[in-house]
Parts: sequence; structure tokens; C-alpha cells
Amino acid sequence: MNKLIVANWKMNCSIDEATSLLQHLQNIACDNDIVVCPSFAHLYLAKEFHLTFGAQNCAATENGAFTGEISAAMLKDMGCRYVILGHSERRQLFQETDSTIKTKLNKAIEHGLTPIVCIGEPLDTYKAGKTKEYIKSQLDNLELPAHNIAIAYEPIWAIGSGLIPSIEEVSEILAFITSYTHNQFRTLYGGSVSDKNCISLADIKDLDGFLVGGASLKIEQFKTICHV
Ligand code: PEP
Repeated sequence: MNKLIVANWKMNCSIDEATSLLQHLQNIACDNDIVVCPSFAHLYLAKEFHLTFGAQNCAATENGAFTGEISAAMLKDMGCRYVILGHSERRQLFQETDSTIKTKLNKAIEHGLTPIVCIGEPLDTYKAGKTKEYIKSQLDNLELPAHNIAIAYEPIWAIGSGLIPSIEEVSEILAFITSYTHNQFRTLYGGSVSDKNCISLADIKDLDGFLVGGASLKIEQFKTICHV
């Protein structure tokens, strides 16, 4: 089955840099499904290039007096197909809780977006061997509806650090998520995915794709990842 490869550009790129990356992405010929998630400011460029694109966040509310927010309806209206929700940077830097994420998730679904929901444990939880308990609690709180949703397992300590869990550990956690959610959702891995580790990660049985941060801004690396 095709893998879902999601590029999370975070708050990066000038218009020129985004345009150049998108031009290259447009020329990638591979069997996998590639989704680019630029900043809100560059979504219109992804649309111009006719790429499949998504946002990195959406509002928990429908519309109204919420200065600075962007609603799920607006994202859908401008052509987004996906939205990343619950990224650990949103949780840690913007105090998003499972409860907020659950509300956003339902808004996204209501407006026909496919949510990519991030879960994952901090380093002390990993070291204490309590990853499954942590993830189980996140999944319980999120109450994911039976819908087209991708779950991205992203150990917080692996994001942007160059560190990743062992292949066995990723396999075990993805198998746990798949079974706990009754095989209803696509399961992605994210956290320091690179052109070096993507091949061995891609062999994991329950892995349906990747959420890629830093390496998605380096086109040669990202091309290699897209071809797994
Ligand atoms: C991310 O931010 O979702 C991510 C996985 O980042 P990186 O690939 O840089 O670790």
C-alpha cells in the first residue's frame, strides 16, 4: 500500500524558498502520497503548484471574534485536505491539551479535512518504560471517531534531536497503537526521520508513512524519504 509522507515545514521559508521547494516537490515521481504542510502564509503557493497540502493547526472554534485564528472551514475552502493537530510543539509551547485537540479534531472532520493527530511521550516517560501507558491515555482522551484519520507517533525527545527509538521500539509502539485503535487509522512515525534511517523504518509492519520535519526542508533528503 502507498505510504503517506507528510512534510511539516513548521514556521520556516521565505516565499522564494517555499516556491523552490514546491517546484522540486512537484517533480517528485513516486508511488507514495506526499502532503506538504507549509505555514499558513504559504498555503496559497502549494495550491498554485497543484500539490496535496495541509495546514499545521486549525482553530477549535467555528468562526467569530478569535483574532489570529484560522478555522477548519477556511482551510477547507482554500483547498487543504489535511491538518496536523496536537503536534508536541503546540502542546508544549501553546499549552494545547488533549481536550483542545479533540475539539479541533472534530471541527476538522466536520469540515472534511483529514486530521493527522500527533501523540508521543516525553523523554522521562520513555526512560521509565511507560510509553504505552502514556500513549494509551492520550488516545483515551482524544476519543478518535471512526473516520479517515492518521495517527503520527512522535516521541517528543526524537523531534529535531537526531535521535530515534530503535526499530524494535517503533515497531512495538506502532503495533500497540494499531491494535488499541482496532486497525482503524493509518499510523505514521515522526521524529528525526532522515534519508539515512527511512529505509529501515519503512520495513516496519504497521508503519503507513512518515511525518517529517527538518528533512522535509532539504529537498534531496526528502526525495529519498518519498521513495521508500
Ligand atoms: C515534526 O516536527 O513533526 C518532526 C518530526 O520533526 P523532525 O523530523 O525535524 O524531528
